[in-house]
Amino acid sequence: MRVLGGHRRLRATAVLAAAFACAVPLHAQSLPAAAFDRLAAHLDDDATVLSIEQRRQENNRLRALIPPGDTARELRWRALACWSQHDDVQAGLAFAHDSLARARRAEDRVAEVRLGYCLGNHRELSETSQAALDEYARALRLAEATGDSRLIADGLASRGHVRSLLGDQGLALQDFFEAQRRYEAGGYRQSARMNLQSIAIAYRRMGEFDKAIEHFATSRVASRAAGDWSTLVLDLLQTAFAYEGLHQPDRAMAMYREAEDIARKHTTRYDVGAAYLGMTGALVMQRRFDEALAMAERTRREFAALRDVSNEGMIELYVGQAHAGLGRHGRALTHFDRAVLDFERSANERYLELAYPERAASLHALGRHAEAVRDFKHHLAVREALQAKLGDQRAQVLRYRFDAERRDDQNRRLAKENELRAQESSVLAAARAWQTAALALIAALVIVLGVLMHRQLAHTRRLRVLALTDELTGVANRRSIELAAEDAIAAARRSGAPLTALTFDIDRFKAINDTYGHCAGDEALARVARACQGTLRQFDRLGRTGGEEFLVLLPDTGLEAALPIAERLRQQAEALSFEDLAPGLRLTLSIGAATLRADETALEPLTRRADTALYRAKQSGRNRVEIEA
Ligand code: GH3
Ligand code: MG
Ligand code: MG
Repeated sequence: MRVLGGHRRLRATAVLAAAFACAVPLHAQSLPAAAFDRLAAHLDDDATVLSIEQRRQENNRLRALIPPGDTARELRWRALACWSQHDDVQAGLAFAHDSLARARRAEDRVAEVRLGYCLGNHRELSETSQAALDEYARALRLAEATGDSRLIADGLASRGHVRSLLGDQGLALQDFFEAQRRYEAGGYRQSARMNLQSIAIAYRRMGEFDKAIEHFATSRVASRAAGDWSTLVLDLLQTAFAYEGLHQPDRAMAMYREAEDIARKHTTRYDVGAAYLGMTGALVMQRRFDEALAMAERTRREFAALRDVSNEGMIELYVGQAHAGLGRHGRALTHFDRAVLDFERSANERYLELAYPERAASLHALGRHAEAVRDFKHHLAVREALQAKLGDQRAQVLRYRFDAERRDDQNRRLAKENELRAQESSVLAAARAWQTAALALIAALVIVLGVLMHRQLAHTRRLRVLALTDELTGVANRRSIELAAEDAIAAARRSGAPLTALTFDIDRFKAINDTYGHCAGDEALARVARACQGTLRQFDRLGRTGGEEFLVLLPDTGLEAALPIAERLRQQAEALSFEDLAPGLRLTLSIGAATLRADETALEPLTRRADTALYRAKQSGRNRVEIEA
């Protein structure tokens, strides 16, 4: 029932099929322009197979070949690099904006189209689907002016992707079919293969789950054979969504696990996040709410590390569902509100259709009946709009097929009459099912209320351990930092990269409390945590493990590299001024550092060694950093 914003990125950076022996000869060094052109053509080739990492390396090689002052080649490099050079979404967005402006200044239409698509992709990841749609539409108009069939097909595939995401399956399929015709006519087999996957996704979104699962099974085999891991991960995720559509969360979960496994080994951190997000939804469906909340937190961390906001709404919805499932409707409501806001902002009716009744149920449970009814009405309105759209979609698909057959019947495979009939009847059946479902939902609300009150008592004890953020300081709490540590240790062991832990404790904090009061102590504690958080790097993690004791995880960092970071933390705390809070209040930290050993798989021995170092720091005068012996 949902899809991830990264789809276009997957497509764009996908490892493509057919083997390639990387063989651009360097004898052409005297002719860098010719070498540049050869490498660029190779990177552009539909049949080129490269992992994202390889693609980055090749792009760097390409960059080195740009003849000085050669704007056209610089733009060509930018159009290629734009897709794969940045893991950080905001950095990618900035690069795309800047490059597109350069293409406009140079009046290089082809580069302008390509960079327009790339910008659309980045806007999709960091802004809204609607913003992406506008960007794609603009670039597509330009592409049509150039008459380049492949450029047009790429734009259609992108636009179709967003239309499908926004619920316009009929228009999306029109785009996909037309793109397919062009890809097949031009012999772009890999692009055609991936476009077929988009068609399967659109079918899934129309509720044609069995057909979608069948398509994806075929695609999985092909992707695996081609070593196209990115597409394989997407196939697995999509199959999982289809199983969720059939209310088979166990099968969905198995697919998500496989996706996570392949993503870790072969693709991107984004994919890992996507698999986590899927698992969160499957856990909610399995009513394993505690695990769902923990998984939601992991999901959030993955996406936060990439500064990706495109899945915020869906995470909020799941967290809300989990709290509601545990009978905590007050908390659930906060999350549902955020989810609805996010979906309203991106005008995503498909997601709104999911979110309104969830919020209505929680409002109802809290006795806020008028608001529940209001949400329920919203739900009905969105549902009707979607239903009307589905009717239009059917008509659009029919119309397109008629035109296409008259003009050129490259798509015969896709336009089989019987498929169409099956689709029509299932759309009608779905419409009937929805009407029944609306009535059933009202009845269910009444029953659910009784069940939830009963469960609320049973779950009270478990709820206490659920919160993952420390209330006072806003940083991760003990449970949460320990979860993060598990991940970090596993990652370090897999990659062989070092991992260093710092533990720190505020010096003579008892005296601070005694002198300035417990409230000032609390506030000082919160400020220290915030200051430390601000000092750390993007992938570092800070958590509060005790009263005024904290743990910091520094991935990819050995002891030597950790020292200046620890020192910075120490200085940061020492420099904090609390004049507005309690004149004269100053504080310092003692810090201990230790590094994960090759034979270690658990956090405990690591923090024990860091604590021993911390103790030594206290012994030798405080306000200092000590490393493990
Ligand atoms: P040192 O660590 O330098 O040896 O001295 P200390 O005075 O800081 O000693 P210790 O770490 O053992 O004591 C921690 C004190 O911090 C105990 C408690 O009064 C205070 N504390 C713990 N948690 C909180 C909190 O949440 N708020 C406030 N205001 N004080 C806290
Ligand atoms: Mg202490
Ligand atoms: Mg202390």
